Amino acid sequence: MDKFRRRLAAGDVLFRQGEQGDCAYVVESGAIEIFQEGDKRNGVVARLGTQDIFGEMALFGEHTRSAGARAVDPTTLTVVTHDYLAERLQASDPMLRHLVRTLTQRLRAQLDGAGPAAAAGSALDQADQAQALARIRAEQELTLALERDEFQLYFQPIHHLADGGVAGYEALIRWIHPERGLVPPLQFIPLAEESDLINRMGHWIIEQSCAALVQLQARRRAAAAAAPPLFMSLNLSGRQLLDPELLPTLDRILARYPVEPKQIKLEVTESLLLQRFDEGMRLLNECRARGLRVSLDDFGTGYSSLSYLHRLPVNTLKLDRSFVLQLDVSDSGRKILGAIVRLAHDLGMDVITEGIETAAQTEVLRELGSDMAQGYYFGKPAPLAAALEKL
Ligand code: C2E
Ligand code: CA
Ligand code: CA
Repeated sequence: MDKFRRRLAAGDVLFRQGEQGDCAYVVESGAIEIFQEGDKRNGVVARLGTQDIFGEMALFGEHTRSAGARAVDPTTLTVVTHDYLAERLQASDPMLRHLVRTLTQRLRAQLDGAGPAAAAGSALDQADQAQALARIRAEQELTLALERDEFQLYFQPIHHLADGGVAGYEALIRWIHPERGLVPPLQFIPLAEESDLINRMGHWIIEQSCAALVQLQARRRAAAAAAPPLFMSLNLSGRQLLDPELLPTLDRILARYPVEPKQIKLEVTESLLLQRFDEGMRLLNECRARGLRVSLDDFGTGYSSLSYLHRLPVNTLKLDRSFVLQLDVSDSGRKILGAIVRLAHDLGMDVITEGIETAAQTEVLRELGSDMAQGYYFGKPAPLAAALEKL
């Protein structure tokens, strides 16, 4: 028998009052009667049809059935097991988990006639509760931070390796917390990514970085009139690939600022693209159709599959710092990097190497053909004023 499906003939009894239960049922087709054995009115207390759910209290712990159930017609049921629900809850938002537990405990306590006091939580529930509360507070704090303008973009230069000139910048977000000071992105981006907050933050980043690019571009023109346009790289996280407002926001902001679409590079990581392949490809193709550029970020940290590289709508391959670290320890690291650079060039992509910290690394990368480089050797991420000054 299928573990997740039950078929009953008319009159079949599914379970009886007092039996131990460990699953709930959803009626797919047919009809079910809930009956209570001692009841004078023929015992039937409810009749359930398609989409109705019953027996659900058995999902929350080991409980005996408070009534019986039998089929009225030939009936098919979907079985929802206790284990299945527990697994789903465990994978869900801690707040949701906590709410479901609390509600069912209260209901259970009322059904058992013990009143709400009997619903006191176990140690596990309390841990969940603490986690849920900490999470809600952190999310609220982030929302307030956005409203209070506590985020700031830092800009890290990306240099051409051929002549050492600045090619563009990567915008990297910082949270300037009123008490904790500068908070790095890896401490809040993952949390922001769990809600719509990342999208609102993303729109803010697009606007701020375009405004910054205009200033950087003006400063650059003042110094060297014939210099080619600078680009600005923006990081996209997974949820943003699904943001219906992302493209309209980009369009709106590009229409407002004197910035060409080709000056904006969107950075996506390989793993993120693989997780949401269809949506990601659709979005990136639309970006490319508008003339925006796309970089594959952190290449070398995920699958780094060379076999599908040619299928991705990507202009630039951004090689992760781990490649650079390999350069210092082995000759094969050098060969691999050289081969990847050649492959990228053959596929029409240019290459940025990240995490360059020394002059020696810069020299090797230039020899290996990397087009551009980014790292502390060229400049750390810095506020706009500092980037302008340096330019
Ligand atoms: P990422 O996109 O790979 O950014 C590069 C990170 O490497 C930055 O850390 C940068 O400060 C650091 N880095 C640059 N040069 C060097 C170097 O020479 N040596 C070393 N050891 N590190 C270097 P950061 O700013 O802390 O950002 C960390 C990650 O947070 C980023 O990784 C990106 O995934 C995410 N992130 C940062 N800003 C944003 C943003 O505005 N939006 C989104 N969605 N994610 C962001
Ligand atoms: Ca990046
Ligand atoms: Ca990176």
